[in-house]
Amino acid sequence: MTYVIAEPCIGQKDASCVEVCPVDCIHPTPDEPGFEAAEHLHIDPEECIDCDACATACPVDACFPLEDLPVDQERFAAVNADFFGGA
Ligand code: SF4
Ligand code: SF4
Repeated sequence: MTYVIAEPCIGQKDASCVEVCPVDCIHPTPDEPGFEAAEHLHIDPEECIDCDACATACPVDACFPLEDLPVDQERFAAVNADFFGGA
C-alpha cells in the first residue's frame, strides 16, 4: 500500500506534505529542479511508509491511501508511480 497525491494538489502545491514526510518521498520538493513545472507533487510508492502525515498536513485533502482514492482520481496512482519510473 502507498499514499497517492491526487487532483486537489493541482494549483496548490504548497509543499506542506514535503515538510512533514519522515522519509522524504514526496517530489519534486521546492528545492528540486522541476518544481515550478510540476502540475502537482508525487509520492514515491517504493518509499512511502503509510504514516498518514501528509494527509493530515495537506490543506486540500489531496493525499489519499491508495485504497481510498476516489474512483474519478484512480489514474493518479499511475501518475505518481510513473514520476519515479513506474510501479
Ligand atoms: S504517508 Fe507518510 S511516508 Fe507516505 S508520503 Fe505521506 S508523509 Fe510520506
Ligand atoms: S500538502 Fe497537499 S496541496 Fe500541498 S503540495 Fe502536498 S499534496 Fe499538494
